[in-house]
Amino acid sequence: MTVILFAIPLFFLLIGLELYVDSKRKTGHYRTNDAITSLSAGVLSRMMAIGHQLIPFTIYVLVFDAVAMFELPQAWWVWLVAFVAYDFFYYWNHRMGHEISILWAAHVVHHSSEDYNLTTALRQTSGAIFSWVFYLPLAFVGFTPEMIITVGALNLVYQFWVHTQHINTLGWMERIFVTPSNHRVHHAQNPVYIDKNYGGVFILWDRLFGTYIPELKEEPVVFGIRGALNSFNPIMANLQVYSQLAKDSYYTRRWSDKFRVWFGRTGWRPADVSKRFPKEKLPLQQFKKYHPHIHKSVMRYSLLQHVIMLVISLYFLLNLSALSGIQQVTIVTTVVIMSIQNGFILSQSTLALAIEGPRLLMLPLLWIAAGVGIAALWFALSCVVSLIALLYAVRHSNYRRPLDDVTLSAETAD
Ligand SMILES: [Zn+2]
Ligand SMILES: [Zn+2]
Repeated sequence: MTVILFAIPLFFLLIGLELYVDSKRKTGHYRTNDAITSLSAGVLSRMMAIGHQLIPFTIYVLVFDAVAMFELPQAWWVWLVAFVAYDFFYYWNHRMGHEISILWAAHVVHHSSEDYNLTTALRQTSGAIFSWVFYLPLAFVGFTPEMIITVGALNLVYQFWVHTQHINTLGWMERIFVTPSNHRVHHAQNPVYIDKNYGGVFILWDRLFGTYIPELKEEPVVFGIRGALNSFNPIMANLQVYSQLAKDSYYTRRWSDKFRVWFGRTGWRPADVSKRFPKEKLPLQQFKKYHPHIHKSVMRYSLLQHVIMLVISLYFLLNLSALSGIQQVTIVTTVVIMSIQNGFILSQSTLALAIEGPRLLMLPLLWIAAGVGIAALWFALSCVVSLIALLYAVRHSNYRRPLDDVTLSAETAD
């Protein structure tokens, strides 16, 4: 966690740099709506991890204390072996995350972006609650919990920089390491690229286990997933596949199929439900990014809310130990509500925009009631500024028409 917290300024610095390069080259690899969704998913993932990572960590410690075979020294070579060994198990964790339905339901979040830029790296799941199982062999061997947490965080930080389209192939590095080029392939929805290049730091595992494919000039990558999310709501991104699996499992008749829906190969569906609820997949050539147009002023309002949400999240992560339980719940609830609202606003929901007024009035009161202190006043101030921005956005978009027939405006968005 500490390593990742320290890396946050670096992440934003590099995102700023990539944005600059993107605008200079006019490559259009960034869309505000998609980037906001990625960052919101990343923030929620970090917040949820605080809650659910404690259990796997405790289990790792218990296994380590009970059955560690060797007492490994804190030597540099042990750290190096730990780093490489962790990536080996990451490969299998990641591969299973694609090949088994219930694990894919969690991992899909990372693939739901239809753009590919540094913010995509931060679009992480809030529900990877089983992944710790893959690293338990390291406890048996004797790698300390601190070592695994550190190399795990370094592994995650490494993966950040490969999420860019501004770096081409990198010669000899393509043979050993995960690079922007071979990881772009991993984010593709082109049939030829599906279920390939699972490595975290080393691409060697893919070469060894037959899942490697280079980026092909004749096959430009189309980013995203075949069953498109069509939403900017990060909660929806987390629940999309779970809800599909739950539905299939509920409607299928055979009991064995109810189980297989969850634990079978990703994409498999019982014959009776796929006949009753067929899923049509358009040819790749007809794929269009989900991109509802909203008025510039609404987009700016959405961006403002996103920045406020990021500041609140940072405040939360930096002051976690000083916050009471009720204060933590209040802040997490605020971040969740703001993320959902923003997702709906970016999807042209006029209802969400209508709810914004009451939301801006209610949440600061909640903070004051929870005794969050001086931060509550800053938050209240940001809500006053937001209210002005909201009124401006409503005035300058077509919002004043009746709710039902309004699409915010077809004027240019971002
Ligand atoms: Zn993946
Ligand atoms: Zn990725």
